[in-house]
Amino acid sequence: MFESLQERLGSILNGLTGRGALSEADVSAALREVRRALLEADVALEVVRSFTGKVREKAVGAAVLKSIKPGQMVVKIVHDELVEMLGAEGVAIDLNAPAPVVIMMVGLQGSGKTTTSAKIAKRLNERQNKKVLMASLDTRRPAAQEQLRQLGEQVKVATLPIVEGQTPVDIARRAVQAAKLGGHDLVILDTAGRTHIDEPLMVEMADIKKVSSPHEILLVADSLTGQDAVNLAKSFDERVGITGLVLTRMDGDGRGGAALSMRAVTGKPIKLIGTGEKMDGLEEFHPKRIADRILGMGDIISLVEKAAENIDAEQAAAMAKKMQSGKFDLNDLAGQLQQMSKMGGMGGIMGMMPGMGKMKDQMAAAGLDDKMFGRQLAIISSMTKAERANPEILKHSRKKRIAAGSGTDAAEINKLLKMHRGMADMMKAMGGKGKGGGLMRGMM
Ligand code: GDP
Repeated sequence: MFESLQERLGSILNGLTGRGALSEADVSAALREVRRALLEADVALEVVRSFTGKVREKAVGAAVLKSIKPGQMVVKIVHDELVEMLGAEGVAIDLNAPAPVVIMMVGLQGSGKTTTSAKIAKRLNERQNKKVLMASLDTRRPAAQEQLRQLGEQVKVATLPIVEGQTPVDIARRAVQAAKLGGHDLVILDTAGRTHIDEPLMVEMADIKKVSSPHEILLVADSLTGQDAVNLAKSFDERVGITGLVLTRMDGDGRGGAALSMRAVTGKPIKLIGTGEKMDGLEEFHPKRIADRILGMGDIISLVEKAAENIDAEQAAAMAKKMQSGKFDLNDLAGQLQQMSKMGGMGGIMGMMPGMGKMKDQMAAAGLDDKMFGRQLAIISSMTKAERANPEILKHSRKKRIAAGSGTDAAEINKLLKMHRGMADMMKAMGGKGKGGGLMRGMM
């Protein structure tokens, strides 16, 4: 079972002792286990292939964070890639269309379509104050329409009156008409399923789509579905065209592989997950949780995340101390610039730092942008040790020499010095208040 991935990976993780960057061999060894694990989690083979390919590309040569093992680094990369592949968080049901908005629920029999229809109706009614009409188009299963009617009563949502002898297409048409007349904001069409995908089912779905022009077509799929998930999602998407996925029975012991497969082959977002038989067992989808579930290695991932957070914590502590003593020389500035470019430049860093508006202004005033990191670093590295420690000694002749050495000019050097003074003053002020460590933590 899946729990053993950690054990199996354990020996490999421990075996990887290289430091610095991940080698091809490290990555291959770890990926063999990851591949097996994904297959065991019911991720479809084609998805596993493309997935491991992507991970390999990212992992080989990747820098290994201080204080973690290379194998753990691989797992983190795998995890992040899983999250990416599972897609964006919180893609809500799109109701942005003229009323009545039609939501068509499709899927195999027993996947949870009827239950999910009622859950969605309840949710949109209670949370968004929508007037919903539900209609069961399942004329095949004798009790299906009655089942939806009862659920409607339970969640206090109207259902279309049952008329014997109508075809699914008739009912769809009637539902849309009734919603228009009744002033409903939306119609949820609960279509009939089959035990497997077949041609008549696809034709029926296409016909219903034609007469009801649904704004959302949600494929309801059981998360316990294994390898069939891909065919299922592909067929429905190709033949009917889906706008999103709802995965049911996420409260069961499904391992989430189906989620990854279906998302990967259709590229359609997972909009909601079913987490129980009760009417409130419906939740938003969080890719990270599914990724954790697929990998089953939450502890390693948080360890690596922590390591990333504490990256060069010692350096940060030393810096905080320096700031408190009011010293922030150009060596320190160079360290900061390096750290910043590592972290995705100004935008990335400023985005991560609450309350950094002042510093941003300082930098903007000094004309510092991403492209300038490199030039600023070049200027600093063209200085002597004494100049870096004591920028006050930088007079005209020294600046001229530095400008020549760094391929810049005196104006640019002055800008850098001005920025440094601004930062030093501010850090001194913050350091004095004992907030320096906090600031530096924000920057890491
Ligand atoms: P349909 O044939 O696709 O309409 O499926 P139903 O809505 O009738 O659901 C089949 C069974 O699955 C019912 O017993 C539901 O209570 C159950 N079910 C649906 N969604 C979930 C879920 O998210 N979790 C659990 N545990 N059971 C569910």
